[in-house]
Amino acid sequence: MPQCSHFIDGQHVDPSGSETTEVVDPARGKAIVSLRLGNEKDVDTAVCAARAALPTWAAKTPQARSELLLALAEAIATDRENLEKLEAINCGKPLAVTADDVDSTIDVFRFMAGAGRTGSTIPAGDYVADTMSLVLREPIGVIGLVTPWNYPLLMGAWKISAALMAGNTVVYKPSEVTPLTSLRLAELAKDILPAGVLNLVLGTGPEVGQSLSKHPQVDMMALTGSVRAGMAVASTIASDLKRGHFELGGKAPVIICDDADLENAANTVTEAGYWNSGQECGAATRVIIHESVADEFTQLLAQKVGSYVLADPEIPGEENLGPMIYQGHYAKVMDMIGEAVERGAEIVLGGNGDDSAGFWVEPTILKVSIGDPITENEVFGPVVTIETFSDLTEAVERANAVEYGLTGSVFTADVSTALEVSKALDFGSVNVNTHLALPTEMPWSGFKHSGYGRDLSAYALDDFSRTKHIAIRH
Ligand code: NAD
Repeated sequence: MPQCSHFIDGQHVDPSGSETTEVVDPARGKAIVSLRLGNEKDVDTAVCAARAALPTWAAKTPQARSELLLALAEAIATDRENLEKLEAINCGKPLAVTADDVDSTIDVFRFMAGAGRTGSTIPAGDYVADTMSLVLREPIGVIGLVTPWNYPLLMGAWKISAALMAGNTVVYKPSEVTPLTSLRLAELAKDILPAGVLNLVLGTGPEVGQSLSKHPQVDMMALTGSVRAGMAVASTIASDLKRGHFELGGKAPVIICDDADLENAANTVTEAGYWNSGQECGAATRVIIHESVADEFTQLLAQKVGSYVLADPEIPGEENLGPMIYQGHYAKVMDMIGEAVERGAEIVLGGNGDDSAGFWVEPTILKVSIGDPITENEVFGPVVTIETFSDLTEAVERANAVEYGLTGSVFTADVSTALEVSKALDFGSVNVNTHLALPTEMPWSGFKHSGYGRDLSAYALDDFSRTKHIAIRH
C-alpha cells in the first residue's frame, strides 16, 4: 500500500484539511483505507513548488528530460505486479485489464520520451527579406492535471508524460475515489525526478480541482472526466484565460451495415463494449445495425457476451468482468436499465444487479427503439443497446445526434461506404471494422461536448507547449 499523503516538492506531506474519505474496494463494498483530503492551502504549496522547479526543468535539454522519463518507465515496469494489484483492488478491474493499463502506461512514457526530442515542424528560413525566422517550442508553465477513476494510472500517465516531456511542471489531482496507483507513481518518481517537477495533491474536484483552476500561478488545466466537471473547470479558467485541455464523456455508435462480417462485429462489440465493464469513455455500447442482419447479430452477440463471468478482480481469467466503481454509480446504471425497460426496451441478456457485497451488474444487452434516451446518454456500465436502421444516411445522422463526439465505428465490407461514413461521423476517432484501436502514436481527442485537447501522439506535446516566433534581421 502506498503512503496516503500529498507528494509536494519531493516529499510526502500530510494534507492540512481535516476532512476524510474512504477508498473502497468495489468488489466487496468495503473500505481499504481512509484518506485525508487536501484544500486550497495545500494546492498553493504544491503550485509554489511546481513554479520554483519550472526554470531548471524547462532549461534541461530534451535528451536530459527524456532520460528521466525513460528511468520512470523502467521503475514502473519493475513495479508492475504491485501496480496491477493496486489498480485491481481499487477499481475492481480484472488483472487482465490492469496488466493492459500498466503496459500502456510504460509505453506512453517511453513514446513521449522519444517524440519530445524532435523540434518545430516549420523550417527556419528567410520568410521576409534579410530576416531569418525560427520557431521555438516552449513549455507553457505549471499545469494542473485532474483525472477520473476509470483508468487512474493510465489517464495520469497520458498527461504527465506529455506535460513533463514538453518542459512543464505539474500539480496532479487524481480522482479521490481511486488514488492508490497515482500515489505509488509519485513514490516511484521520488528518486528519479527533481523535487517539485511532479506534485500530487489528494482531494475532491470542487475543492482541490477548483483551487487549482483558480490559482493565478497555474498556466493551464488539463482534465479527463465528465462533461459536468469539464465545463466547471472551463468556466473557472475562462476568468483569467488559462489554457484548457479536456477529454470528456462519450457515447460511441457502432454502425453495422448489411454487408459486414457479423462474426467480427460481434467479437469486437463483445470486447470493446464490456472492457472494464463498460466503464470506458469510448465503449462500443450503441449498436445501430441494418434491420436485415439485426437478428443474426443479436444472437451471435448474446452467445459471446453470455460467456462473461462476474468475478473477483484478483482471480485471473480472460472472461472475467469486474463490478461498478461505487454504490452511486451502480444505482445510476441499474436505474438507466430499469427506465429503458419501462419505456419498452427488451432485455436480450442480463439486466440484473446485486450490491449486497460489491456493486455488480450483469453484462446486459437491450433491444431498444429509435430515439430511446439510453441510446443518447452515457451509461458507463456493461450495457449494449441495439437499434436498427434501413437507410445508412439516417443511421449516421442518428449517430451524430448526441452531445458527444469522442469515438465511433462502422462495420462494412465496402471501402467506399467505410470512407464515406468515417468522414460523415462527427467523432474525434473513427474505426472501421474494429473499435477502440488506440495506438500511442495516434491522437485521442473528442469533438463537441467530448472536449478539446489531444492526448497521446506528438500532438499532445504540441498541446502542452507554446510556440514562439523569433525573427532576426541580418
Ligand atoms: P468526474 O467528472 O466526476 O471526475 C473526474 C475528475 O474531475 C475527478 O478527479 C474529480 O475529482 C474532478 N472534478 C469533479 N468535479 C470537479 C469540479 N467541479 N472542478 C474540478 N474538478 C472536478 O468523472 P469520473 O466519474 O471520475 O469519470 C468518468 C467520466 O470520465 C466519464 O464521463 C467518462 O466518459 C470520462 N472519461 C473520459 C475519457 C476521455 O479520454 N475522453 C477517459 C476516461 C474517462
